[in-house]
Amino acid sequence: MNNSEMMQRDLTHIWHPCTQMKDHETIPLIPIRSARGVWLEDFDGNRYIDAISSWWVNLFGHANPYIGEVLTKQAATLEHVLLAGFTHEPAVRLAERLCSLAPGSLNRLFFADNGSSAVEVALKMSYHAHLNSGEERPLFLSLTNSYHGETIGALSVGDVELYKKIYEPILLRSVQTPVPADRSEEAARKAAEDLEAILKVHAKRISALIVEPLVQCAGNMHMYHPLYLELAKKLCESYNIHLIADEIAVGFGRTGTMFACEQAGVVPDFMCLSKGITGGFMPLAAVLTTDEIYGSFYCDYLEYKAFLHSHSYTGNPLGCSCANAVLDIFEKSDVLKENEKRAELMGRLLEPFKELSNVKEVRQTGMIAAVELEGYEPAERVNLKLFDFCLKRGVFVRPLGSVLYFMPPYVITEDEMKQMIDTAYEAVKSL
Ligand code: PMP
Repeated sequence: MNNSEMMQRDLTHIWHPCTQMKDHETIPLIPIRSARGVWLEDFDGNRYIDAISSWWVNLFGHANPYIGEVLTKQAATLEHVLLAGFTHEPAVRLAERLCSLAPGSLNRLFFADNGSSAVEVALKMSYHAHLNSGEERPLFLSLTNSYHGETIGALSVGDVELYKKIYEPILLRSVQTPVPADRSEEAARKAAEDLEAILKVHAKRISALIVEPLVQCAGNMHMYHPLYLELAKKLCESYNIHLIADEIAVGFGRTGTMFACEQAGVVPDFMCLSKGITGGFMPLAAVLTTDEIYGSFYCDYLEYKAFLHSHSYTGNPLGCSCANAVLDIFEKSDVLKENEKRAELMGRLLEPFKELSNVKEVRQTGMIAAVELEGYEPAERVNLKLFDFCLKRGVFVRPLGSVLYFMPPYVITEDEMKQMIDTAYEAVKSL
C-alpha cells in the first residue's frame, strides 16, 4: 500500500476535521504509517518532523515506549468500566495526582473525554452552581479572539469568526471582553479596565469568565501578560463570577510552568485539561474545581441539585493510565527545566526571522513560538504555501492564516529543532 492508494481509500469515505474536502483534489492527504519521537512516516517512506505535536497533544514523542507499555498493561487488565457507580485505580490515582499538582486547592475532579466536552462541563457546572445557590445567571463572558472548542457551548464562548460565524444563530448567549492587545503590562491593565466596565453592567447575569491563560493558541498564538490573569481573577472574585481557566492547550508544561495560571499566581474556580494529558495517546479530559463548588451540588437526591452530566467514556481507564504515565515522566525527569533549555534554543534559532521584511513579529511563551507574517491577503492562502514548502523538506507545519508557529514535542533534539526552524525560515524567505 502506498500513499496514493491509501489516500484514495480514505477519500471514498472519510470526512476530515477542519477541512474543505475539495482541497484534496489538489492537496494530497498524507497517510501516516507509523511515527516515533518527533517523526511521522508516510506510506511512501517519507519522514516529517511533527512541529505542532499533532494538534498540540503529543508531549513526549510518538510511540513513546514508556506510555505505550503502561497502556498495553492497562489494556490487558481493565479496558473500560462506566464511572457512574463504579471506579478504578487509574482514575483514582490520576485524580489524586492532578488535584495535588493543580494550583491552590482544586480538590474535585470531573472527567470528560475531549477538550470541548471539558469546556461544556465547566460552563454547565458554573451555571448550575450559581443556580444551586439561588442565582440565575444565563450569560458567559470570554475574551475576544478566544477559542474553546467546537461543540455548541464551547463555540459559543469562542470568538474566532472562521469557526463561529455560521453557527451564530444557534449558539448560547455570551459576551466578549477585549483580550490584552499585546504582552505589555499596560495592555493587561487596559483590558482589565474593559473587563470591569462590562462587569459593572452585566455581572449579575454572568456565571463565569472563561480564558485561555497566557496564550490564545487557535487565535493565532496571541500572547498576553500574566498580570491580566491576576487582575481578572480579582475582578471575578469581587463580582462573584467564576473564573474558568481553559488549560487544554497550554497545560502540562507548554508555557514553562506545569499550568499557565501559575505564572500569574492565580487559582481559578475551574481548570480544564485535555490534549497533552495523555501525551497524545488517548482522548481524555478533566475539569478540576473547588470543594466549595462541589459542595453546592451535594445534597439529598430529591433536592435535584446533582450534576447529571456524563459521557460513555468518562474516565476511561486506558486514558487515565496514559495520563498517569505522563505524570510519571514529569516526576522522573525535570521536564520543565529541560524545556527551558529547549525553549531558549528555539528562541535563538528564531532570531533571523526578525530580519525578514515579511515578518511582523516573532513571539514566544515557553515551548510555543510564533512568527507572524504581514502583507498577505487571506485569499493567497499563504499557510498552504508554507505547509507545502516545509512538507517537501521533511517538516510538518500547519500555520494559522499567516501565523507560522512551532509547538514541538518536548523530546525534540537540537538537530531536529534546527532542521525544523531552518526549513521554516527558508519557507518564509521563499514567499
Ligand atoms: N480549548 C482550547 C484552548 C483548545 O486549544 C482546544 C483545541 N484546539 C479546545 C479547547 C478543544 O479541544 P478538543 O479539540 O479536544 O475538543
